[in-house]
Amino acid sequence: MRVLLVEDHRAMREMIADHLKERGFAVDSVGRGDHAMAAAAVARMDAVILDLGLPDMDGMDVLTWLRTAHPELPAIILTARDSVDDRLLGLNSGADDYIVKPFNLLELEARLRAVLRRAGSPRGTTYSLGGVTFDTVTREAAAFGKALELTRREAALLEELMRMPGQVITKDRLEDRLYALEDAGSANALEAAVSRLRRKLAAAHASLQIETKWGIGYRLIAGAAEGGAQ
Ligand code: CA
Repeated sequence: MRVLLVEDHRAMREMIADHLKERGFAVDSVGRGDHAMAAAAVARMDAVILDLGLPDMDGMDVLTWLRTAHPELPAIILTARDSVDDRLLGLNSGADDYIVKPFNLLELEARLRAVLRRAGSPRGTTYSLGGVTFDTVTREAAAFGKALELTRREAALLEELMRMPGQVITKDRLEDRLYALEDAGSANALEAAVSRLRRKLAAAHASLQIETKWGIGYRLIAGAAEGGAQ
């Protein structure tokens, strides 16, 4: 899940981003309205968390633009403006939720997951295939009941693959889901993450293979390795 976080207060932005990354989200953080629109225009986001008091424009103008350019994109307003009029304006302008500062990080995360669910993203669930399970809320993976130690990114990769088993998922899509704009630049990061995940699945004797479709992407299939090179 990829989230665009728009917040000009640096410490708050970093605190929220760190928490969400810790919880398995890819987070693009920006501090200005124009940067928010640029980020939303170039990458497919799953949700936006939007501060209203921004240095270059009002967050409400960003919301208005979002509702036109990306009408399906869930947006949560996160602001110090706490009057009923402000809340009504935000919700009536197309925000999916409205959170007043100060707020609790866990509540923000829970509300984010709630708007993602309503937007049709898979609800908190456990995927299971080839003896491997992955809990999308706790971020815990296990092979035949034994915990798999995965990095945050390996877990996100496994989640994306398990979401659509048997289907080829393009490298572009995986990179888009796994890496925020600020992480871009390492061309082989995805390949490296796939290799590490493969090794860990093999070490755990999981009946799960990550097949490479050269030049296209990857596909997760159930079944033991047949010793063939990939
Ligand atoms: Ca602000």
